[in-house]
Amino acid sequence: MDKPSPYFSNLKCRECGRLYPKQAIHVCDFDFGPLEAAYDYEAIRPVLTRKAIESRPHSMWRYRELLPIDGDPTVGQQVGFTPLVKADRLAKALGIRELYVKNDTVNYPTLSFKDRVVSVALSRACELGFRTVACASTGNLANSVAANAASAGLKSYVLIPADLEQGKVLGSLVYGTNVVAIHGAYDQVNRLCSEIAGKYGWGFVNVNLRPYYAEGSKTMGFEICEQLGWKIPRHTVVPMASGSLLTKLHKAYGEFARLGLVEDTGFSVHGAQATGCAPISHAMKRGTDLVKPVAKPDTIAKSLAIGTPADGYYAIHAMKQTGGSAEDVTDEEVVEGIRLLAECEGIFAETAGGVTTACAKKLIESGKIPRDQSAVLCITGHGLKTQEAIIGKCGEPRLINPSLREFEEQIYSKDAAADAVAA
Ligand SMILES: *Cc1c(COP(=O)(O)O)cnc(C)c1O
Repeated sequence: MDKPSPYFSNLKCRECGRLYPKQAIHVCDFDFGPLEAAYDYEAIRPVLTRKAIESRPHSMWRYRELLPIDGDPTVGQQVGFTPLVKADRLAKALGIRELYVKNDTVNYPTLSFKDRVVSVALSRACELGFRTVACASTGNLANSVAANAASAGLKSYVLIPADLEQGKVLGSLVYGTNVVAIHGAYDQVNRLCSEIAGKYGWGFVNVNLRPYYAEGSKTMGFEICEQLGWKIPRHTVVPMASGSLLTKLHKAYGEFARLGLVEDTGFSVHGAQATGCAPISHAMKRGTDLVKPVAKPDTIAKSLAIGTPADGYYAIHAMKQTGGSAEDVTDEEVVEGIRLLAECEGIFAETAGGVTTACAKKLIESGKIPRDQSAVLCITGHGLKTQEAIIGKCGEPRLINPSLREFEEQIYSKDAAADAVAA
């Protein structure tokens, strides 16, 4: 057993503030509020300086004092520190002065932001002595649990809705995990997981390990600040499924400001969803924090299709508190968003990235993100995982025989003529 961390002190109820020991528990016994990791910031302040951080390896663990484990990370030591890309061509296309893309499509090892949350959850699961880990997932979480459990030598079960994309299903099966596909939507998968978690003593990443899992998302916010030269971005656009990533980005910016690592000069966090499953965005637009569940999500953005978002209420408060707003887009706009990001920046995102890009476009058009300001888009998963969403929607290759004459007649001369018309 590792010595307790001097920085990560307790779990704490978000509602009443009651403190709990750092065990595999996730709800308050008194008011059923979610438990969240709490830290001793006075102990962290002198240790976690800009200089100390910059001297450490390029992974999400360079902020380890702000992560909820006791010893050294044992799972996912390479995760994070993905590129922050200055997206000048996309900025021009969207009509905004300055734009960046936080590119988690190239996160290690499973090409989505979920590697961040899983490396924390499984490192903590090992500290707590779990030998079997599991999750309910819309796809990316399953991929990451399967891969990271395999490399850590843990047994794993991943439970998914039966209608997920091929790439997501195969991207779990290949690691030799136990994939259980459920006839039903994510909410039903999740409910089943809560029953299983109570029964077999497994470490469920998004149930009894959720307080640990959720904290991993903060590292995306820490990295954005560091990569911007120790600044909080004026605007951040974040895709929302359960709403956890958005809530934790907000927490990350607040923690960095509190520790004096960045100055808080004012920032807004905006949420993005697909219209076919937009319970948080719709509540925000109605001006309420009462999130109405979506019984039958219907969108190509399956990774975001959570009808009853666990952190919806807190995401709404984070957006309101920072002067942010929510937006949602149709499946057609999602495809346009994927293509726009790819054509402008050479980044192939999954459907969630199309949601974020298309929502950013709408937020800029409506003035909610002013054109003379600066924004960061959180692009959270790779496009090769959701190919069926765009197959047949990006044109087709032009087919010719291996003949120079055919190339010249059918390709080169036609393109030259089109270029002449365009010029
Ligand atoms: C899980 C996920 C998110 C965010 O999920 P939250 O539950 O809101 O934290 C965003 N994008 C992708 C691709 C995801 O897989």
